[in-house]
Amino acid sequence: MEKQNVPELFGSMVFDDRVMKARLSAKVYNSLRKTIDENTDLDVSVAEAVAQVMRDWAIENGATHFTHWFQPLTGVTAEKHDSFISPSPDGGVIMEFSGKELIKGEPDASSFPSGGLRATFEARGYTAWDPTSYAFIKDHTLCIPTAFCSYSGEALDKKTPLLRSMQALNVQAKRILKLFGKDVKYVRTSVGPEQEYFLIDREMFEKRPDLIYTGRTLFGAMPPKGQELDDHYFGVIKPRVTAYMEDLNKELWKLGILAKTEHNEVAPAQHELAPIYSTTNVATDNNQLTMEIMQKGARKHDLVCLLHEKPFAGVNGSGKHNNWSMATDTGMNLLSPGDTPFENAQFLLFLAAVIQAVDDYSDLLRLSVATAGNDHRLGANEAPPAIISVFLGEELTAILDAIKNDTPYQGKEKVIMKLGVDSLPRFSRDTTDRNRTSPFAFTGNKFEFRSLGSSNSIACCNIMLNAAVAESLKQYADRLEGAKDFESELHALIKETITKHERILFNGNGYGEEWVREAVEVRGLSNLKTTADAMPHLLDKKNKDMLMSHKVFTESELQSRCEIMLENYCKTVNIEGHTMVDMVRKSYLPAIEEYLYSLAQTTSLMQSVSKNVKCSYEISTMERLSELTDCILDSVEKLEGALEDLKKYPDIMATSKAVRDDLIPKMDALRKYVDEAEMLTSEKSWPVPSYGKLLFSVY
Ligand code: ADP
Ligand code: MG
Repeated sequence: MEKQNVPELFGSMVFDDRVMKARLSAKVYNSLRKTIDENTDLDVSVAEAVAQVMRDWAIENGATHFTHWFQPLTGVTAEKHDSFISPSPDGGVIMEFSGKELIKGEPDASSFPSGGLRATFEARGYTAWDPTSYAFIKDHTLCIPTAFCSYSGEALDKKTPLLRSMQALNVQAKRILKLFGKDVKYVRTSVGPEQEYFLIDREMFEKRPDLIYTGRTLFGAMPPKGQELDDHYFGVIKPRVTAYMEDLNKELWKLGILAKTEHNEVAPAQHELAPIYSTTNVATDNNQLTMEIMQKGARKHDLVCLLHEKPFAGVNGSGKHNNWSMATDTGMNLLSPGDTPFENAQFLLFLAAVIQAVDDYSDLLRLSVATAGNDHRLGANEAPPAIISVFLGEELTAILDAIKNDTPYQGKEKVIMKLGVDSLPRFSRDTTDRNRTSPFAFTGNKFEFRSLGSSNSIACCNIMLNAAVAESLKQYADRLEGAKDFESELHALIKETITKHERILFNGNGYGEEWVREAVEVRGLSNLKTTADAMPHLLDKKNKDMLMSHKVFTESELQSRCEIMLENYCKTVNIEGHTMVDMVRKSYLPAIEEYLYSLAQTTSLMQSVSKNVKCSYEISTMERLSELTDCILDSVEKLEGALEDLKKYPDIMATSKAVRDDLIPKMDALRKYVDEAEMLTSEKSWPVPSYGKLLFSVY
């Protein structure tokens, strides 16, 4: 096997701290470092110096072009390449790249979704360098991570509000830490996203219009074997998949992405990749890149990587786990219990802030992961339910109970909890990580938000999470800064928070029907099942007030985002509906008809030879298939009607409700008949590869 020098490979395509330190003058380096670490404004002369060095480095590493790399509201990344060339008087070219080109770009952005933002303001948007995320080279192009805004300053992307939310949390967390006598430079949130995906054979993929157009199968009868044996999870990785993963790791490492863990997942053909965690905006950039490289890299192995949340009915879909914590520049994880009683009190305060944030803004967390694709998973007993709740584990729950009730803590060490006096036990991962059904679980020193869909940008949920936690921390800081006796006020505050928000805490089985009843009827938690249900809550007054007060969004940005997300939901399902019609009319009905013809011919031929043959198989199959073609025709006509009807609704809210209540049920009805017909038709006559072929043909 080819030997690899991973340390040498790692980050070789990244303009990272090592390159900056080695190549920039000390003055320029220190100034840039200060901008990165402390969010200070960037000096123009510094940008000019950085641009020159960056250009030379990029050209040495094979780059011919540069691009501002950004994340518009489509959910994928965007880039427009410019070459470095500039004509020289002798008829040749020189390679140029200025500070201005590094800092600011002006892509013609009129085709990106803006939810009406740019119609009322400026037609053009601009991109602005985010120096906190390193530039990198991909496909001979120097990619400069940027934010994307309109000229009036409205965010047109996911990165800008993410950076704002990180800043909001930074400000409030520092206020709290000051009260504990800690003066830190900054508090940042860290994220480690675990990414699930499917790998299928390219030849099979290309025969399925539904996969090509929508990323998921819209039809398909169950194969004899699915995931019931649990033999795929952590199973031996097949050679073709191993070769793919090796290449993938190499590409990711070159880009400085800390790809760490890889394994087979629950469903056949399903896998997972997890990186080591990093600062949220870097983790977001890296996750977008990871998804892109996963898909591109698969093609080289004659595979296709599916990132859709539910590529196959009947087996698990794919999600993403957003492991999240807060840490200071001094390396202190604020969600890790400390060594002293005083540090434990600080830990409990940050813990309380998260619990309160999730309870107060559970609707924002829910809607931050809402897409047509993810609607297939949440609440389908394979992913957490659409109801948001927090899992703390027995040990921590017992501690909070003891604080709430002023009773001795009955844990392993039997201590009475007095904040600021007693120590907390260390939580081992074992006691905290057993529940896989909870959407939001404490796992020792971080929270794991598990409701994300595999194709979601992690920016969305982290914007909401950061902002909501910033809001709890703000309330706490307001109260504690004015307290006469800090410790007793702190104790009272934590106790009150636990009492008030205990309804969001749930350690039980999130998949059970009883939980849905208890959550909704007894605890009053919301169960927003679909995107159409969830998304409008973005504009609820309490949510708008919070997000605007922390300057994470403006009112018009919120309105535009709600509109874009609902539009995306409607368009996605609309394309699925049209694809179904197309496949049924052009492939399935003609194929069934051909098969019926051969059955009828066989029957009449056999019976003309002998009066004794009954032809029971041929006749009964023919009768049922013929009934099914009638049902399929009827259902496809109804689906066509529903698709046509969608055009008549006055606004996107009404359209999204019609998609939920009318279009999707009609798609489901049609699928049922087609899947039954598939089971009755010879495999040779069926026009697309079966589930069995799609799921089990990669070795
Ligand atoms: P699981 O048991 O869910 O598979 P892993 O041990 O694989 O969990 O870790 C999941 C992710 O959590 C990894 O990306 C890891 O780097 C990340 N992680 C670990 N500690 C932290 C932390 N303090 N903050 C954020 N993410 C973290
Ligand atoms: Mg996990």
